[in-house]
Amino acid sequence: MSSTNLPPANLPKKHLFELPEGIIYLDGNSLGPLPKAVSSAVADCVEAQWGGQLIKGWNDCGWMEQPVRVGTQIASLIGAPSGSVVMGDTLSIKVFQALAAALDMRPDRNVIVSDSGNFPTDLYMAEGLMRLKGRDYRLETPEPDAVLDAINADVAAVMLTQVDYRTGRMHDMRATTQMAQEAGCVMIWDLAHSAGAIEVDLAGSNCEFAVGCTYKYLNGGPGAPAFIYVRPDLVKSVEPALAGWLGHAEPFAFDPSYRPALDIERMRVGTPPVLQMTALEAALSVWKDVYMSEVRSASLRLGDLFIAEVERRCDGLELVSPRDGGQRGSQVSFAFDHGYAAMQALIARGVIGDFRAPNIMRFGFTPLYVDDEDVLAAVDIFEDVIANRLWDHPDYQQRGNRVT
Ligand SMILES: *Cc1c(COP(=O)(O)O)cnc(C)c1O
Repeated sequence: MSSTNLPPANLPKKHLFELPEGIIYLDGNSLGPLPKAVSSAVADCVEAQWGGQLIKGWNDCGWMEQPVRVGTQIASLIGAPSGSVVMGDTLSIKVFQALAAALDMRPDRNVIVSDSGNFPTDLYMAEGLMRLKGRDYRLETPEPDAVLDAINADVAAVMLTQVDYRTGRMHDMRATTQMAQEAGCVMIWDLAHSAGAIEVDLAGSNCEFAVGCTYKYLNGGPGAPAFIYVRPDLVKSVEPALAGWLGHAEPFAFDPSYRPALDIERMRVGTPPVLQMTALEAALSVWKDVYMSEVRSASLRLGDLFIAEVERRCDGLELVSPRDGGQRGSQVSFAFDHGYAAMQALIARGVIGDFRAPNIMRFGFTPLYVDDEDVLAAVDIFEDVIANRLWDHPDYQQRGNRVT
């Protein structure tokens, strides 16, 4: 890897996380674990700030500026300039905002290109938005490999999740953006599985919009707010479809008509989730002194080790993630016919990954708190589950409408 000019690695940061005894956590790509700094920060926000300051907290405790303050910290992790990212709402909402703005920028075009590997909510939000627009919009979802072929002069927006949530396959952000823009399309990147996982150079990619969530690799906790990036030269011309009062130029003028803020704050909607964002803000302290290039090279090493060991020791599994680390995000997925039950068997033995229909066992590699020993210990258990058919047990077959 190209980390030769960097100071010595400060990884691991395992001591900064609460990790339950006896658990190997390979699901930080879905919900990051609890950083130790979070509990006291949230307790202080509840007791001293909310409890002690009451409504004065909005001014005196920095609650009102928090979406931009935290956005600036996120910006530094995704290669974006400060002031170009703001926090709020959930990722689904941020997808809607970015796509609505993009369609308005290309009113004479009627196609949205995404891909068949995108996370369903991104596609659902596009469908909902198309219905709302009441025009002849069309959403195209080619296979990830065929996205570039679908880009043409009818396409208003290309909206892709950089790292495929099922397979970990990665789009080339810079090349795809360039192709989209050469065809006159607006480029939107969803960084749900990128932020905190891989090196992202948003400014260098020149994309118009990016969005992402913070409860995955950024460890902000269940319900942590999402982020949205708008390329700085566009921010003054982007018309917010969700014209909320906190995106107004002067929210406290209580003006009956909407006038958007002149900066990234126009992408704010309503009251920020202060308690959640306080958890996130404290969680971001783990990135101090961490270079994303170190995280990336460590995560590739862990993923390569996992692939090699699983393929050597577990029969009947098929790698569905790219073998080449350069094409892969921070997760490794295997297809296995009994994947659901096998994952339940792993979880019962302290190895937490997850399952994605129809048959994918997914494992996230998060080097801030996962090391080689964890990977080897996880594969020991995986081998036992597969070789001894431990998955073949009625307790592991039952599926409900549960988080998996
Ligand atoms: C995790 C994820 C989401 C989740 O959206 P929420 O609104 O935060 O529930 C959306 N899109 C992608 C690509 C994801 O990976």
